[in-house]
Amino acid sequence: MNNLRTISKLIEPQIAIEGAGVKLRRSIAPRVSNEYDPFLLFDHFAFNDPLEGPLRGFPYHPHRGIETVTYMLEGSTAHRDSLGNSGLIGPGDVQWMSSGRGILHEEMPRRGPSGNIYGFQLWVNLPAHLKMSEPRYQEVTAATIPTYEKDGVRIRVVTGEVEGVRGPVTDIAASPLYMDVELAPGLEWKFPVPAGHTLITYVFEGEGVFSGETVDAVKMVRFADGDHITVKTENSPVRFMLIAGAPFKEPIVPYGPFVMNTIEEIQQTLQELRNGTFIKE
Ligand code: FE
Repeated sequence: MNNLRTISKLIEPQIAIEGAGVKLRRSIAPRVSNEYDPFLLFDHFAFNDPLEGPLRGFPYHPHRGIETVTYMLEGSTAHRDSLGNSGLIGPGDVQWMSSGRGILHEEMPRRGPSGNIYGFQLWVNLPAHLKMSEPRYQEVTAATIPTYEKDGVRIRVVTGEVEGVRGPVTDIAASPLYMDVELAPGLEWKFPVPAGHTLITYVFEGEGVFSGETVDAVKMVRFADGDHITVKTENSPVRFMLIAGAPFKEPIVPYGPFVMNTIEEIQQTLQELRNGTFIKE
């Protein structure tokens, strides 16, 4: 570990309206430029004010060619899909959904006992050879996500590994790291991330010095290449999602909830939706 990854971009999340009128904070959206390859989108839903009115959620919509990763911290998301799956993603749970060739699903956030809803959705790309694969779920409950804890460092490991603590989500094409990291005040943490992989961190509580630069919540941070980052805390703790993965380096054509490699594949998808052959038995 002698090549520090410096910060290459600081992103201020923007308010976006999605689904049936859900307000959220978006820091990454799918673009042809594919700047965060293999990551496509990062949304933060935080409805903490009852004045925001009734929850409208995300009624039935399709996906093709991507993986959607839902991580809830407070409240829950009720989901059901065209394949007959349904369930509740509760506090601390993760749903890693590979849409492959296609699913239709509904995602409806629910307030927790405190009245709050707090969670993230990440979209991870699929490489060309997996875009039309079978849809697949990895559903992980809070109790089965291991926590690494040592000297003021606390990490919930969804995928990847921290000193022998291995996350339960496996066999993902992008070889991702997805971790919820909390650092106590007054410490310095050094963490290896494979060179060549894309690395972003979503800082959502507190403040820390990331590879030498102070970053406070709420910000998305993109790092340059290298083999590790350092995070130092001073008077306040910091909490962030650490997200890394191997880029596919393929052209992408995003269109709403679909991300394919060519315009023809998007046209084909829309054609299948029109003629009712999008969902395959
Ligand atoms: Fe969805």
